Amino acid sequence: MEQEKSQPYRPLVLTSIADVRKWRLSCTLANKTVGLVPTMGALHQGHLSLIKQSLKNNGATIISIFVNPSQFAPNEDLDAYPRTVEDDISLVSQLSDTHAGLETKVDVVFLPNVKEMYPSGIPLDVSQQSGAFVSVLGLSEMLEGKTRPNFFRGVATVVSKFFIIVTPTRAYFGQKDYQQSLVIRRMVKDLLFDIEIVVCDIYRDDSGLALSSRNKYLDGPTVEMSTNIYRMLKHGKDLYEQQNITSVAELQKQMMAVIQPFVDDGAMKVDYISINDKDTLEELTEIDTNKGGCITCAIYVTNSSDDNVTRLIDNILL
Ligand code: AMP
Repeated sequence: MEQEKSQPYRPLVLTSIADVRKWRLSCTLANKTVGLVPTMGALHQGHLSLIKQSLKNNGATIISIFVNPSQFAPNEDLDAYPRTVEDDISLVSQLSDTHAGLETKVDVVFLPNVKEMYPSGIPLDVSQQSGAFVSVLGLSEMLEGKTRPNFFRGVATVVSKFFIIVTPTRAYFGQKDYQQSLVIRRMVKDLLFDIEIVVCDIYRDDSGLALSSRNKYLDGPTVEMSTNIYRMLKHGKDLYEQQNITSVAELQKQMMAVIQPFVDDGAMKVDYISINDKDTLEELTEIDTNKGGCITCAIYVTNSSDDNVTRLIDNILL
């Protein structure tokens, strides 16, 4: 008789809010804590590091994959954003860890469609939008918010929806999007969500390049050039920590020198390189060594093969 082969593990894939709520109730009844990892998919090791942290911390883990229209401006890459759902599911299927002595795996992949998340519709043009949104005033207008004025309103809105649907014990975000993590913390505080926010370290490849789903847009030479973004941030941190340089203007000048050759030949364009208070994101002119700070940057890189332009963000804490 042929031996029965055990089926490879596959998480439950849910597309409706009602089903996620039923699953959440089953976790409550089983006395399990629930970790939520919200993502836009095209998963890479950076996402997986957040998921692994959730598997360690919680009895149950749910990840969401949803490319959220309200955080894209009409001229941005909503349509082009990489969508690799089947690969994503097979990647997360292979993850396991232990929590409280028991094996944990990703229990649920939540894959809602736009209608499920925005039952009243969601035009990309902000002037056409109506209804309920979540804004975190102050933090959202700085840095990223200057170039992407409605971005954090979109993020805060969709993350609130996930929080309301899942009511997780903990939710996991990456320091890669440092400002986003502050916006979410502030939202949780002000809207009284009873959720612990866990912010995980930036996952970089061996070259130092921070992993990002948008790295898929880069051709080979541009990937290589983009490794200079981390070199620049690290140079700033070294100057501050090893040579005690605390003048922001001086640090910015010396960091800029690292990428100047690429700026000069038109392959890189700086949106901002900023040094800010870690909590308020207030722009600093002088770093207080008792408090440190955060160097954040957004750089446009242009592919050598097809002139495609990608905006990369990165940061380093001081
Ligand atoms: P995204 O799919 O880009 O919206 O990212 C989902 C979550 O993964 C966010 O909380 C990101 O900050 C986090 N993330 C993305 N890239 C990385 C990375 N390289 N290291 C750690 N976390 C990351």
